[in-house]
Amino acid sequence: MDYQTLAVLAGLPADDPHGAVGLPIYGVAAYRFSGLEDGQQRFATGEGYTYTRIQNPTAAALEQRLAALEGAVGAVALASGQSASFAALLSLVRPGDEIIASPGLFGGTVGLLNQVFGLMGVKTTFVAPEADQVRAAITPNTKVVFAEVLANPALAIPDFEVLASLCEERKIAFLVDNTFGAAGYLARPLDHGAHVVTHSLTKWASGHGSVLGGAVLSRETSLWENFPQFLAADLQGRVPLEAFGSRCYPERVRHLGLAVGGMVLSPFNAYLLFQGLETLPLRVERQNLNAMRLAAFLAGQPKIAWLRYPGLASDPAHRRAAKYLQGGFGGILTLGIKGGLEGASRFLSQLKILQAPNVGDVRTLAVHPWTTTHSRLPEPARLAAGVSPEMVRISVGVESAADLEAMLSEALAAV
Ligand SMILES: *Cc1c(COP(=O)(O)O)cnc(C)c1O
Repeated sequence: MDYQTLAVLAGLPADDPHGAVGLPIYGVAAYRFSGLEDGQQRFATGEGYTYTRIQNPTAAALEQRLAALEGAVGAVALASGQSASFAALLSLVRPGDEIIASPGLFGGTVGLLNQVFGLMGVKTTFVAPEADQVRAAITPNTKVVFAEVLANPALAIPDFEVLASLCEERKIAFLVDNTFGAAGYLARPLDHGAHVVTHSLTKWASGHGSVLGGAVLSRETSLWENFPQFLAADLQGRVPLEAFGSRCYPERVRHLGLAVGGMVLSPFNAYLLFQGLETLPLRVERQNLNAMRLAAFLAGQPKIAWLRYPGLASDPAHRRAAKYLQGGFGGILTLGIKGGLEGASRFLSQLKILQAPNVGDVRTLAVHPWTTTHSRLPEPARLAAGVSPEMVRISVGVESAADLEAMLSEALAAV
């Protein structure tokens, strides 16, 4: 079935006692057992519900829908995009292991790698997500290569197939943060060889900037045979790979991230995210059209030093975008205002478009990464992440393109 169909039908409970159309919210912490054997059985097998920290029917419906939308073998929903990255990595590494990551990754991810995994004795080497550089950085301890589908605000797209075959050959997990792939509508890295994808559902899945959420998804693979954590018997005496096959990875994410890690998504937020996915294709199609129209408008403006939008044939990311973004070129564009920091400041002081550090919202949002999202990085690291003082990032929403054009035009006049 096509994405648009799965987005409204996948994951709907078939056995609702009242025949509800839509997803009921299970606002409960625990589930009752019919007797000793029932409780024992549920705890021993992990089948059936016990306690919402481990699984909840509303969150489970969201997980099923996400897995269907991206062709995954399993999905785990968590409290935020950060907790998804945390649990995804925690399930892949052990002290002494190494990670290779792109320096352009989301700031929170860089912090997680340096400040949390660094403390746990897991070292990260930062190199651009290009095959020659990644190959040179691989050591016998490398367990993960971590890239982003469309790094922002630099708007760089890795060559997924090339990186995936390198990881496959070296038995390394290829992990892609697919937040900017809009829950698989714009991009499906699992189809191009990634083993695991993570999402901040806060962005396109929510679509309304109203709740936080995250998810980890993985595909069918034999890679886990090379990871000792899936070959050693667990506390119940089960060898994860034998018991679950490819699902051993999402099971570990559920165990470490939720059952013992406690990074649980509220059932209420799961409900909103499940509903958000239903209109995601409509919103993203509109954002694609609006962004293309604004890019064409901005490209001819004299107050603009440069413009980046992967949909423009002249854009450095265009060729890979055309190959990997099967759902269109997305709603993110970045521009450099003439006059550096001063020019950007004048532009933003007159801009009627909302200014906020979020993306994927129905509303168009602008931000000045140099002084906000990336301000805590030292200057050289900001530049390495593709951020510059004159840069403004725009996440295009679903408003009328003519109104957005007028707002941009008015602010440019002030520069
Ligand atoms: C927002 C974001 C995150 C973190 O997600 P939260 O839901 O804010 O915790 C991770 N990766 C990317 C690419 C993001 O844009």
